[in-house]
Amino acid sequence: MSVVARFATLGGATVELQTLKFATRYAHGSRHLGVEEQTVDGIVWDCRGCGTRGTAVHGDPYQAHQRDQATRAANAHAAACRALPTA
Ligand SMILES: [Zn+2]
Repeated sequence: MSVVARFATLGGATVELQTLKFATRYAHGSRHLGVEEQTVDGIVWDCRGCGTRGTAVHGDPYQAHQRDQATRAANAHAAACRALPTA
């Protein structure tokens, strides 16, 4: 995992946008379920204040082509989250 962006929350914590690889049967952004799992590049966001992890549908990470969507969601969470930093 590597952090590619950070957003400051209202409470002073950070929301980190992180890349990762994960196994999915929805490869290459397809909405159709594939037969075999494939490892793909993905992205999630984690709020260090309240512990929320932002994912795409069904709890799967966003896929690489959904980075803009993940970025907007992370920024929207930061703009609303009032949790204080935990450590
Ligand atoms: Zn939060």
